[in-house]
Amino acid sequence: MSMPDRTDVLVVGGGPAGSTCARLLSARGFDVTVLDRSAFPRDKTCAGWITPQVVQTLAIDLQDYGRSRTLQPIREFRTGLIGGRPVLTDYPDTVSYGIRRSEFDHYLLERSGARLRLGEPLGSLERAPDGWVANGAIHARVVVGAGGHFCPVARRLGAEIGSGEQVIAAQEIEYHLDAAQAADCSVEPSRPELYFCADLKGYGWCVRKGDWLNVGLGREDKQQLSTHVAAFCDWLRRERRVPADLPTRFKGHAYLLYPQAPRPLVADGMLLAGDAAGLAYAQSGEGIRPAIESGILAGEAIAGALSTSRGAVDPALLDAYRVAMERRFGHRPGAGARPPSGPTPAWRRRLGGLLLGNRWFSRHVVIDRWFLHGQQAALPAIGQAR
Ligand SMILES: Cc1cc2nc3c(=O)[nH]c(=O)nc-3n(C[C@H](O)[C@H](O)[C@H](O)COP(=O)(O)OP(=O)(O)OC[C@H]3O[C@@H](n4cnc5c(N)ncnc54)[C@H](O)[C@@H]3O)c2cc1C
Repeated sequence: MSMPDRTDVLVVGGGPAGSTCARLLSARGFDVTVLDRSAFPRDKTCAGWITPQVVQTLAIDLQDYGRSRTLQPIREFRTGLIGGRPVLTDYPDTVSYGIRRSEFDHYLLERSGARLRLGEPLGSLERAPDGWVANGAIHARVVVGAGGHFCPVARRLGAEIGSGEQVIAAQEIEYHLDAAQAADCSVEPSRPELYFCADLKGYGWCVRKGDWLNVGLGREDKQQLSTHVAAFCDWLRRERRVPADLPTRFKGHAYLLYPQAPRPLVADGMLLAGDAAGLAYAQSGEGIRPAIESGILAGEAIAGALSTSRGAVDPALLDAYRVAMERRFGHRPGAGARPPSGPTPAWRRRLGGLLLGNRWFSRHVVIDRWFLHGQQAALPAIGQAR
């Protein structure tokens, strides 16, 4: 039998959380291996909207990035209730970007500096005296679970994936518009459109990046999601926002919001980052920024723990990650923070309708606070002083 390949840190999952964590640790001189079941570039169900704090923290050279990849500057928004009157909000400068996840994630992973084992799913994970052995082939002193919502490391740490968790369920399609479809599409590339469900339990979006159109809807209850998606698309077609031949085969996915996620951040000497830990912002569902921030905070805690010994890592030192996350994202009540189930009271629906039709509320609360999360400064880039 051959000896396992030795690495300091094994990162399971090469999405934004995993590649960011790997990049920080590689930059600090550690040997890092990223294991991903997919060959890259790979697709990820996502609207592909990133906020400027993501660009800042990842120190992305936008000119370089945009040379050969889709990079759509965003300066305006069209928001409201599905079926209601929309509100337009504009900004003097770019406030966000549209990207394609197949390109973005590939770019981040390639520059991570880690050893890549792609097209290789995590199968087994066994304890060794000084760490873990994955797939009987990789020996790591520390393991990071960054495998997204269905991460096998999260499952190993007790996550009840697909049963005991209150997920946001979403469906989405992204497709290339031909010339006739582009002419038949009223969604402007610089102006994403966001429309809330009448019961305020979710929202739909249209995000256009050049000639790529992304349409989707997410809700905090997964019952009848397809019915909500179909009604949303019918309304978009009637309003002539999207081409009449908008495809109907949407892809589904799920994620957890930070306050409600019952998953641990650190347990049994392993760490969970990004969607594996359930970190999306509660109001917008933005998950890329929390994923990269968790990748950095996990990387810092691991670097600290690895530096104290040559062999086994003291698991107590990894708890610095949980402390740093709670400092940044707040206390996490977990399953105790579930939103109320059942129908939304009529007064709440009416108030929501009024507020979403108000220009001041749409700009300062919906866009600035909920979607741009401008109230919290970006984490400094890797290598910059904190
Ligand atoms: C419909 C939808 C729209 C969204 N829109 C936005 C948006 O516009 N902006 C935003 O910020 N967030 C958005 N999000 C959330 C965002 O997509 C996630 O929060 C983000 O992708 C999390 O990154 P991650 O690195 O944690 O996981 P992922 O990006 O999911 O990466 C996980 C990686 O793990 C790999 N993996 C999985 N299982 C295994 C295994 N067994 N072995 C090895 N590797 C494995 C996968 O192949 C994948 O590459 C959206 C989510 C959905 C569902």
